Order: sequence, then C-alpha cells, then structure tokens
Amino acid sequence: MSARNHLPIVVVGAGSAGVVVASRLAADPKVSVLLLESKSELGGSSLRNYMVGMTGMQDDYEWERDFGCAGWTWKSAQKTFNAMPDILHDVQVSEAGQVDTALVAAAIASGFPKIERLAGDTRSSRGVGFCSLTMRNGARHSVVETYLASQSNQTNLAVRVNEVVEFVVMESTRAVGVRLLSGEYIEARGVVVSAGAIDTPALLRRSAIDRPGIGIGLQDHPSIAITLALRQLQHSSIRIGANVRTNSRNGNSDIHVLSLNETDESGSYGALIAGVMRVYSRGEVKYDATTGMGVPVFNSLSDERDVVAMRDAVRLTYNIAKTHAVRNIADSLLSDAKGTSAQWIGDASDTEIDEWALQQVGAYSHAAGSCAMGNSRDEMAVVNERAEVIGYQDLWLCDASILPTLPRANTHLPVVMVANRVSEMLCEVLSL
Ligand SMILES: Cc1cc2nc3c(=O)[nH]c(=O)nc-3n(C[C@H](O)[C@H](O)[C@H](O)COP(=O)(O)OP(=O)(O)OC[C@H]3O[C@@H](n4cnc5c(N)ncnc54)[C@H](O)[C@@H]3O)c2cc1C
Repeated sequence: MSARNHLPIVVVGAGSAGVVVASRLAADPKVSVLLLESKSELGGSSLRNYMVGMTGMQDDYEWERDFGCAGWTWKSAQKTFNAMPDILHDVQVSEAGQVDTALVAAAIASGFPKIERLAGDTRSSRGVGFCSLTMRNGARHSVVETYLASQSNQTNLAVRVNEVVEFVVMESTRAVGVRLLSGEYIEARGVVVSAGAIDTPALLRRSAIDRPGIGIGLQDHPSIAITLALRQLQHSSIRIGANVRTNSRNGNSDIHVLSLNETDESGSYGALIAGVMRVYSRGEVKYDATTGMGVPVFNSLSDERDVVAMRDAVRLTYNIAKTHAVRNIADSLLSDAKGTSAQWIGDASDTEIDEWALQQVGAYSHAAGSCAMGNSRDEMAVVNERAEVIGYQDLWLCDASILPTLPRANTHLPVVMVANRVSEMLCEVLSL
C-alpha cells in the first residue's frame, strides 16, 4: 500500500458526473472521498435542467472506432445504460402541456410513427413521442437522490459546498492536492475534475496542465425557436414533454423538434424548437487569464453540414407549426423576439433561412467535448480511455468535457453513463 493511500480522492464539482463518481467510489470502504462543490447546492446542471432523459443512437457511442478510445463501444455503453437505476418517468397524456400534445398530434398527422419510449430507443430514426423525464413521484430526481442519498451514511465520504477549487496542486506531473479559493490546501491521493465542460478546461489551465487539446473541440446542439403566441394561458409543470426525431437530407436521426410549453413565466408563449443533433461544428473554451475563467465560443453552424441540417429542421418545424393541431393553440407564429411573423419561412429561399438561422441560433445547454477523450498518441486528446489526463498521474477528468462527440441526445444521461464507466475503472485502480 502506498503511503498516500489514506488520503482522500478529491472530486471537484458535484454535478451530474461528479456526484456519480464520488458516490460510486465511496461504495468501497477502503477508499476515502472528498466531494467539493463551489455553489451552495449539490447536483450541478442536473438540478436545473429540463429533465429530458435520452440515450441517443447506437452509432453515437462507437468511440473506439471513431476516436481510438479502446473499450468504448456501443455494446459497453449499452451495458452501463442498462445497469443504471431507471429513474425515468414517461410523460402521460393527462400531464403533458398544450404544446407537447399539439406537437405529437401534428407529427402523427404529418405521417410520423409514434415511438412509445423515445428515451431508450436507439434505433428508430423517425418518429414522435412524449418524453421520459428524470422524475419520481412528480418531482425532479437528480443524481443526488439517485446516487448520493444511498451513500450519505458512509463515513469515508465527505462533502463540502461553497468551496471553489482554484487549482490542482501538482508535484511535477503528479496531482497531489487542490488549493481552494479560500487559500486552504487539501492533500489528496488523486484528483478527479468534474467541473463541467466550461469550467474543467479553465481549471486545468489554472493548474498549468499542458495539453494542446484543453478547451478545443467544444460542441453544443444548435437550436432555433419558432415561438407560438398561445391562445390560452395554461401553466404546465413539464417544461419539455414531447419530441420529434427525423433525418435531414444528409444525416440520420439528426434532427429533433421539441415542444417548449412556456418560454417565460407569463405563460403567454410556447415554442417549437428545431435542433440539430449530429453536430460537426466545433468551437473552444477560451481562457481569460485575467479572471481565470473559461469563455465558451461554440462556432455553431460553422460547418456546412450543420447548416444544411438546420435548414431542413427549420422547414420541418415550420410545417409542423402550420398544422391544425398547432394553430388550434396558437394565434400566431413568430420568428424572433421582436415579434416578426414566421410566415416568411414558408416561401424563404435556402439563403434566407441560413442567414436567419445564423442570427438566431442558440445553444441547447449541452456543452461538451472541450477536453476530449482519445488515443494517447492523439496530441489533441486530453484524457485517455481510462479518463486519465495524458502525460500526468493521479489526475482524471470525468464530466461532459471528455465526450469526444455529442450523442444525438440530451446530454445528462450520456454524461451519467460515462461517469458510471469511469467510476468502475477508477474503483479497479484504487482498490489495488
Ligand atoms: C438549463 C439547462 C437545461 C438542460 N436540459 C437538459 C435536459 O432536459 N436533459 C438532459 O439530458 N440534459 C440537459 N441539460 C444538460 C445536462 O444537464 C448537462 O449536460 C450535464 O448535467 C452536465 O454534467 P457535468 O457533470 O458535465 O456538469 P455539471 O452538472 O454542470 O457539474 C459541474 C459542477 O462543477 C461545479 N464546479 C465548477 N467549477 C468548480 C470549481 N472550481 N470548484 C468546485 N466546483 C466547481 C459546478 O458548480 C457544477 O456543480 C441541460 C443543461 C442546462 C444548463
């Protein structure tokens, strides 16, 4: 046993990934774990996300084939997804919001087949269905309830909130602790950084970790809204409850149309959101040396393939918005926040749609890929297939930043899957 084995593994960031890693490592009583979170609450983005649970398509997970990440295949991802606690609640017709119901009816009337459980359907390229949400008994079920609650009595797990990690302390190329913003130094057996796709690369830069790929390759799913001025106010506890999935002319299952029941608290507006799910454009998290923070630059729609897919997504979304089912609930359709009617989309040229899309494109809050996993010989890879920072010891990354590409899904469940797999690998290493 090494002299350092009595020290804790420090997990930085208690979000979707960090909570899973800390909880799963602490299941081994021989491993001591300290989970540090900067904000006052545990759960990170899983506390405020829209709760849509989705796996993505099989082909999204062939990382061994596509990125040289040995052992990362759909088969291995599927095994982990299947072993994860099933906390998904299928939205029922009776609880769906008015935009959800209209979207499902409109898509079925337009010829889309109904998919009974979109969440785990990794094969159907076209269809519509109500979403599955990470909910239990009518309430959000975040990773805190699913993973951490069962470990809360473990004496080998300590959790501290309101603790910002300023940098990882290195001895040569080995992580030996963390320095908090308060000035406190915590010695560690090893450090797992789970600070999320924007903060993880910044934290590595503050720690003077030297890999050229840090921050590079950032992705998000580009999205654009057609806003619905609703005839009737109808508050819904479900923010997004239905989804259409289909193919662009260039891709497979690469377009989603989502229903947003309320765009703001007034309840007067809803939206249909056109999303491009197979993303080729890449940006980066720039490092602001003055503040020490990461600045995301997504470069959305910078790749022509995404532009074409978005064009198809916009036209499909507009056609769905024009159906009876949607017009029954919406007085008018709007293409921007100034209240411009969306009617022009019906006759718009490709160029007009592309220009509008570039102006209006927003992110889906699925930032990923800024410290990508890859083969150790790939100089732009930041972590290897065991999530170790390449060229360093006792330093691992585990969060959305290490996804080498975005799956065609909302990212919470994929990140939780990755965190479960990385935890299994870490457990093996740490129990030696
Ligand atoms: C508004 C919104 C809606 C979304 N909707 C959905 C959805 O419906 N379905 C879905 O699947 N996905 C959704 N997502 C995306 C999904 O929630 C994220 O992809 C996922 O939670 C990312 O997990 P993570 O562990 O990488 O990062 P996070 O969950 O963001 O965790 C990072 C944690 O690290 C902490 N941290 C950062 N820096 C430090 C530091 N220096 N010291 C200590 N702690 C630090 C942060 O406070 C945070 O708690 C949504 C995201 C957002 C923001």
